[in-house]
Amino acid sequence: MLIDLPISELSEKLRSKTVTSVDIISECYDQIEAHESKLNSFITLVDRETAIAKAKAIDETIATHASPLAGIPYVMKDAYLTRGVRTTAASKILDSFIPPYSATVHRKLEEAGAILIGKMNMDAWGHGASTENTDYGPTKNPWDQERSAGGSGGGPAAAIAARFCSFGIGEDTGGSIRNPAAWNNISAMKVTYGRVSRYGAIAYASSLDTMGPTAKTAQDCAYVLETIAGVDPYDATSSPKPVPPYTKEIGASSKGKKIALPSEFFGDALDPEIKAAIMEAREVFESAGAEVTEVSLPLLEYGVPVYYILAPSETSSNLSRYDGVRYGGKRSLFTKENKRRIMTGTYALSSGYYDAYYKKAQKVRSLFISEYTKLLSQYDAILSPVTPIMPSKFGELLDDPMKNMMADLYTVTVNIVGLPSLSLPCGFGKTNLPIGMQLVGNMFSESTLFALGHTYQQKTDWHTRQPTLVSSK
Ligand code: GLN
Repeated sequence: MLIDLPISELSEKLRSKTVTSVDIISECYDQIEAHESKLNSFITLVDRETAIAKAKAIDETIATHASPLAGIPYVMKDAYLTRGVRTTAASKILDSFIPPYSATVHRKLEEAGAILIGKMNMDAWGHGASTENTDYGPTKNPWDQERSAGGSGGGPAAAIAARFCSFGIGEDTGGSIRNPAAWNNISAMKVTYGRVSRYGAIAYASSLDTMGPTAKTAQDCAYVLETIAGVDPYDATSSPKPVPPYTKEIGASSKGKKIALPSEFFGDALDPEIKAAIMEAREVFESAGAEVTEVSLPLLEYGVPVYYILAPSETSSNLSRYDGVRYGGKRSLFTKENKRRIMTGTYALSSGYYDAYYKKAQKVRSLFISEYTKLLSQYDAILSPVTPIMPSKFGELLDDPMKNMMADLYTVTVNIVGLPSLSLPCGFGKTNLPIGMQLVGNMFSESTLFALGHTYQQKTDWHTRQPTLVSSK
């Protein structure tokens, strides 16, 4: 299939006119027609005629488009405003909301000539790790339809795994780009806090939220990040740091790179199949000349408690605007999980409890920052699992809030500190379910992570494997 090709190759073919964007988009819609009913990855599918008309326009003007993303189809998690295209955050509260303007990321992609084909399923307002906490029905995992596609951005990840599109834009507050990447066998970059504008993103927890690319490979993610990163006058938290040429720097050698392997990350909570896959990945990095050293990061166990004070506190404030008075539907339409978080957050912020919970969590956050900063001053990356468990069966996380939170063990600390992290496929379990790992780097070290990831993907073929659903009719 055309959509299997890397973005760089698709772009060359479009330019040499051996392939048209209409061909690519048609193939995606055929694939969607054949398989979407089994997965439920979309909340809103852009109609075929609209997408084809855009593709035609790009084909006619391809020579004038500088961006390699011109004519390439993408999807967005339904947490970003897209002018004229319904945006719901997977909540009936916004069921009929048609945004009057676009998120900066969407605007940049449109200007590059990329073609939006859909708004994707997620846990409502980003609350969850399994895309079951949605008002639009759960997204099924393309590798096993009795299991979850991960969350909160299960929709975009499943769509890429099922070859419905070339890349996606996700949102990661505590793992929502990385967890679904791991469970669907795709790659994703959770960027440094401030690297990508959040203007037009529906806020979950403002001190943790980041937007980033998800695609088949580290290299494809690099193409997308190069386009969407950078300072934005509409987002005061976006960084003025220049955006490096990620796709040029991705060829950098891994020789001599220092990778830390924190021993606390490989304790009893971790599924043995995931542990084994990451130990194999360690050897791949070593064979590429990297030096992998076991280290200690003792704060890990406080990550989930700190995150589940800070994120609910911030979401209780952010979601108060959907009060049904100024806009949005009735507050009763918030899900059980949404209400649990709003109540926990309101409690943690209320006078008398603020010092005991919110302030204390912020203090521990500072400890995380100093611990990670210290470690990353000596190492180029930390190698870690993405999730402690394999893709969950439906109900497994939804019915057990504690287990649901523990699924975030390895991802949330990264957001607490604001670091970048690249999630990559690194193996399969006995029942053919995918396993992911993450490489966590220093602030703004996306280029280093891409290069390590690219080296790994040149030496392995996990990322090329496809669920059987892709080829079946
Ligand atoms: N699973 C985490 C949560 O429910 C992360 C969600 C996210 O990154 N949006 O908060």
